[in-house]
Amino acid sequence: MAMDPVCYADVDEETVKHTASYGGQEFYFCTASCRKRFEENPGKYAKLATKFSIDPQMSC
Ligand SMILES: [Zn+2]
Repeated sequence: MAMDPVCYADVDEETVKHTASYGGQEFYFCTASCRKRFEENPGKYAKLATKFSIDPQMSC
């Protein structure tokens, strides 16, 4: 399982439809709107994706 860096949902790399690459890394998103948010500020979300702190208030 991969993690959606925007909303922290679990995303299956095998079936995911929304992807983006940034900094040589591939990111997976549960929805197109999550990907859009990532693309507006990829540096911020790419950084968050490497952290393990999960904010339960985050959602799509
Ligand atoms: Zn999402």
